[in-house]
Amino acid sequence: MSESLKRATSASRLVSESKATTVRAYCRCNSGHYFQGEFCPFDGWSSPASRELAKAVRQLASDDRKLSLTALCQVGLSESTLERVVVIDFGCEASAFDALAPQEYVVNGKSQCFPKVDSALK
Ligand SMILES: [Zn+2]
Repeated sequence: MSESLKRATSASRLVSESKATTVRAYCRCNSGHYFQGEFCPFDGWSSPASRELAKAVRQLASDDRKLSLTALCQVGLSESTLERVVVIDFGCEASAFDALAPQEYVVNGKSQCFPKVDSALK
């Protein structure tokens, strides 16, 4: 695991009261993978968007603020980067993952494989 990914991972941890939950932010690469940090672990893809997201996640952690889409916008995440981001609030820290490679999407009730997904899905 790269140093920047370790920082991004630990930065997104949240312990609420007695229950260990975690919030993580993922960037989508051009192959449809979702990942934390600056580089997609499946194919090495990186972009200004993934670097900007990783930096924003580190910023929120250093400010001791909860990771959320709203908080990411408040620290200045750009609109183009925001379009690639998902934030998942895991009810159990042990359920969290570093990256995800979806096989199919269902958009408007229609199953589609990446990269054949309708271009309306950003
Ligand atoms: Zn990828």
